[in-house]
Amino acid sequence: MVNAASPTQTPRLAQAWAVLQTVLDPEVPVVSVCELGIVRDVLLQGSGLHVVLTPTYSGCPATELIESNVVAALEAAGFSPVSVTLQRAPAWTTDWISAEGKTKLRDYGIAPPGPVASGEGVVMRFTPRHKAPALDCPRCGSANTERISAFGSTACKALYRCLACKEPFEHFKPL
Ligand SMILES: [Zn+2]
Repeated sequence: MVNAASPTQTPRLAQAWAVLQTVLDPEVPVVSVCELGIVRDVLLQGSGLHVVLTPTYSGCPATELIESNVVAALEAAGFSPVSVTLQRAPAWTTDWISAEGKTKLRDYGIAPPGPVASGEGVVMRFTPRHKAPALDCPRCGSANTERISAFGSTACKALYRCLACKEPFEHFKPL
């Protein structure tokens, strides 16, 4: 049987993508760099690989760590050499986070970003434009939440508190 593999779906590339699916975000260690949409392209380059990454929030200190984790994982899987290009345009957007990635964020207790295209980034409910967006609590689902701080553990996230279950939670800001 003839395997009519497309240029982007050779077995080695498929294996490389499978390896990348196991490289988790250092800040949210439940979502992979693929699910976050950070990995933009993977190209065969001789016996090695060339990976194109688009960093998330500019200046996010995780970028260097992600880059070295990606290289280490691919080299451990037998790809060598592995080179990385950081592609900053078009800029990364939270819209690139896959649906599965957003589900994992919520399961982890982080309110995932809404679609950027909707204007304020999340569905607005009862909130004037200058106020923080209303979010559902990722733990109990209550819409009765308030923003405590525009910045959580990292600049990428805002800190919220659920008034129903009293639990604080983080919100991955739409960008
Ligand atoms: Zn709650």
